[in-house]
Amino acid sequence: MAKETVNRTYVASIRNQRQVRDDLDALGFSASKLWNVGRWVCDRVWSEIGHIPRHNELTTYLKTHERYDDLHSQSSQRVLQELAEAFTGWYGKRRNGDTRARPPGYRKHGDDHPRSTVTFKAAGFKVDTKNGRVRLSKGENHKSCWTDFILCEIQTQPDVDLSTVESVQQVRAVWTGEAWTLHLVCRVAIDVPESPGKKTAGIDLGIVNFAAIAFEDGHGELYPLNCLKQDDYYFSKRIARCDDSDSERARRLNQTKSARRTHYFHTLSNHLVERCVEDGVGTIAIGDLGGIRDDDETGDAKDWGRHGNLDLHSWAFDRFTWMLEYKAEAEGITVTRVSERDTSKSCSCCGRVRKANRVERGLYTCDECGLVANADVNGAENIRRKVSPSLATDGGDRSNGWLAQPSAYLFDTESGRFAPRDQATS
Ligand SMILES: [Zn+2]
Repeated sequence: MAKETVNRTYVASIRNQRQVRDDLDALGFSASKLWNVGRWVCDRVWSEIGHIPRHNELTTYLKTHERYDDLHSQSSQRVLQELAEAFTGWYGKRRNGDTRARPPGYRKHGDDHPRSTVTFKAAGFKVDTKNGRVRLSKGENHKSCWTDFILCEIQTQPDVDLSTVESVQQVRAVWTGEAWTLHLVCRVAIDVPESPGKKTAGIDLGIVNFAAIAFEDGHGELYPLNCLKQDDYYFSKRIARCDDSDSERARRLNQTKSARRTHYFHTLSNHLVERCVEDGVGTIAIGDLGGIRDDDETGDAKDWGRHGNLDLHSWAFDRFTWMLEYKAEAEGITVTRVSERDTSKSCSCCGRVRKANRVERGLYTCDECGLVANADVNGAENIRRKVSPSLATDGGDRSNGWLAQPSAYLFDTESGRFAPRDQATS
């Protein structure tokens, strides 16, 4: 076991809810109002000059707005940052072909404002872990002559030991629909398992092969979506056959379908972590789908909507990545999200970047060095190289090697595990 400092978020209830509720409500409503002001500015700027302002532009522009002083300046800044992030998330989804993605909206229900989460940073809060008290700063506009802060008495879950907290990074006031709670983002020292080794692996997520993994020694593995596709087809057909009178039946079919998908994700993430442990991997690099995909620039964007009759959208990748992260962490393996820029256009052998993809029938060919590689494994290898720039250790001549013919693992419905293609029964 080794010691490591990590971020943990602890959720605390507020014991003096009745005393602080009005004050917190005021801040929550203010955050929504500021969000809406920012959202409106985005609309205006967009229609004037066709550009959506970034976070720092929004802050500069709105610093003097009267709504900005409803919250502590760091809290106001965070609201505008969230708005900018919501736009970035939306661009990312659009780029990945998710045509159902919508830009962030206004936070309003008729004349009412919802209670938005309010974030307090360094100068905006004080935590007294010994006595279980948190002091939150109000904005200039909400300060009165006798209180310029809100004092919350908090109660954390019984298994949380606040004495192990080294520092509190930020506090978020979150409305649950019934009460305000505080989320404390803490730095804590924890015991972590020793990592299985120093090697690296790269994972590329996609539609045909849900995952492709490239190991440091140059071999690659593919995890096709065989069973999930059949499953999806089977269930979609049965759901389509239900009419309105069967809505209960359709609901249950939908539930089974999503439970089976979750099972697949769990099994695959367990399996990949196991493979990495066997291989002495200490760091996994995985493509960050929030980032830019190369395909955009070639006008060849992956159209999830069209090819993805499988209804696998970015949420599926996010969910899977999250599973992989926590399972890997439990084995002492770090998962790093890296940008996918150029990972499908570059040759993983000589590093040459092509303007357009040279991918035919799933093979990447390079006329510079002669590499012929499975396109997804080539992508995974490029992702791996972002955390470990050294060439794979097999001497560089991989044109006839593992990259071209990676082993494919199929989900074996009988054993409920992944097995190499020739051993799987499905
Ligand atoms: Zn090459």
